[in-house]
Amino acid sequence: MEESQTHSWKDFFKLVLKSRLPWVLYLLTFIAMLLTSTVSLGSPLVLREIMSGNIFDKKIVMLFIGLSVAVALFVSISGFIRVYAVARTNRNIQETIWSKYIRVPIPFFNRNSSLLLISRLTHDPTHISAAVNAFLGVLTSTFQLVGAIIIMWNMDTKLTLVLLPVIPYILIVSFVVGHFTQRAQEGVQKEYSGMTAFFAERLPKIRLIKTFGKEKVEVDHGEIVIEKQYKADFSRAFVDLYAEPLLQSVQALITGLILIYGGYLTTQGALGIGSLIAFYLYSNGIQNNVISYGTFWQTLKAAKGAAHKISEIIDSDSETITREKSIQDIFENSSGDIKLENVSFRYEERDVLTNVAFTIPEGKVTALVGPSGSGKTTILSLIERFYKPNVGQIVFGDTPVEKIHLDEWRNSLAYVSQGSPLLSGTIRDNIIYGSDPLTSDEDIMIAAEKANATAFINEFPEGLDTEVGEMGSKLSGGQRQRIAIARAIMKNPKYLLLDEATSSLDAETSSNVQKGLNQLMKGRTTIVVAHNLSTIQKADQIVIIDDGKVSGVGKHTELVESNDLYRDLVDIQFAKEQSLSW
Ligand code: ADP
Repeated sequence: MEESQTHSWKDFFKLVLKSRLPWVLYLLTFIAMLLTSTVSLGSPLVLREIMSGNIFDKKIVMLFIGLSVAVALFVSISGFIRVYAVARTNRNIQETIWSKYIRVPIPFFNRNSSLLLISRLTHDPTHISAAVNAFLGVLTSTFQLVGAIIIMWNMDTKLTLVLLPVIPYILIVSFVVGHFTQRAQEGVQKEYSGMTAFFAERLPKIRLIKTFGKEKVEVDHGEIVIEKQYKADFSRAFVDLYAEPLLQSVQALITGLILIYGGYLTTQGALGIGSLIAFYLYSNGIQNNVISYGTFWQTLKAAKGAAHKISEIIDSDSETITREKSIQDIFENSSGDIKLENVSFRYEERDVLTNVAFTIPEGKVTALVGPSGSGKTTILSLIERFYKPNVGQIVFGDTPVEKIHLDEWRNSLAYVSQGSPLLSGTIRDNIIYGSDPLTSDEDIMIAAEKANATAFINEFPEGLDTEVGEMGSKLSGGQRQRIAIARAIMKNPKYLLLDEATSSLDAETSSNVQKGLNQLMKGRTTIVVAHNLSTIQKADQIVIIDDGKVSGVGKHTELVESNDLYRDLVDIQFAKEQSLSW
């Protein structure tokens, strides 16, 4: 336990040092806050002069007004710089996390839910900036506190000595209040995150809820999470209910002491009325400053927790991008075949691929065929280097793919899956996503034409400028798929990975898109996970995957003869296509 605490502090300081924090801005904030404190320390002294009978002394009155204006000015300027510094801190940490997310390997995303990762990005950095902000506050408070005590000491030592014992009391109160406020705040945050996660999952699935008549159940579920959030809010308000009187008791104690003992000194002629008022004003400052220590500690503890979580992300390994050989070199000096050499792979515990070995010849179409769940998509993921084989290797030409620059390798591939994802933006944005952003509309439309997408694009009044909506939600499944195919065509990749790319299209669209794909596949190394008989039959090579193993490699006619599983799969597919065409 102790060890994990020290670890977290280490994480916190490491993160603070690593996150390109705006140190110059912090320094400026600190200077501005010091100036503000210095000027505000002067005000009660001038007020004391005025109250001591100099009310008609224009110079002093003007000085007091000048100081008040200066305090207001400094407060707003230092407040602005402080907010600016905090915003920059958040931004810098968020940018660090985001660029890490983009570079961590896919298994990281299998382990962490996207909602959790969003919270790490949006919420946790605010704890770090709050702590840095509070640290600046504490430094200024200390300056103000020491300044106020020195001034008070010089004005009246006895009254100052009477007030000093109150400081431990204020410290205790502020730590207690800070502790419970922070805990209640964390509770609110936890329930708020739970509620956000619930709605973020349910709302996009509203059709599922309606289709299965689960409205009532989901309303009840929603009420439970809302209720939890409500209760957390209530607990937070409840903390305020007793925190406020506690804090007020501090004020009451100080005011009481000043009035009773200071009043006594005044009646004795040992303390002027001006000094009494100045004392009162300084003591107010003492209370506020000491309270900031209690809240600082709590803010720091929350930041420590957040830093630990953020560090786990920032310190996790990125994808390795070594570059021993350029893909162009390999092309020039060896064949462009991709070989899977005795590849075995497991996701977590369960073996998915065992000893898979076959060659994907350059410029040819290789079809992966096999029952659902047999490991076909996993093979494509390994080729894309989303995962590394646990045993064996994938070799390109005669070079293991790990030795090729990752970006270069992925740039030479295009992948079209069954549920091809689109990003919000226009149709144009989505088609050129993997290509040159300055591609002309003509070239885009040529790619769209090959993917059989021009007819529906032209039907939209905005054409290529049509917004596709969140994840392409304003388009039909078939339209989304054709845009994804156009995106692959536009990229003009050396290697094409198709994962049941036409299976969500109706028969007519599917055959039209298939024509486009056939054109794209011509002379290009293609690995296609196929159900469609015509694609399978035309393939130069078919690899049958059965329960993570290769059960046969060959051409259609050979396999129909030699492989029982293949014959069964072809029969099933044939029957399905017959019934569809019927
Ligand atoms: P296919 O493409 O042949 O339908 P997949 O390659 O998608 O098969 O899946 C092979 C096996 O691996 C399946 O049993 C599937 O449940 C499992 N699997 C796929 N993706 C993951 C993952 N991210 N984590 C754990 N298991 C997975």
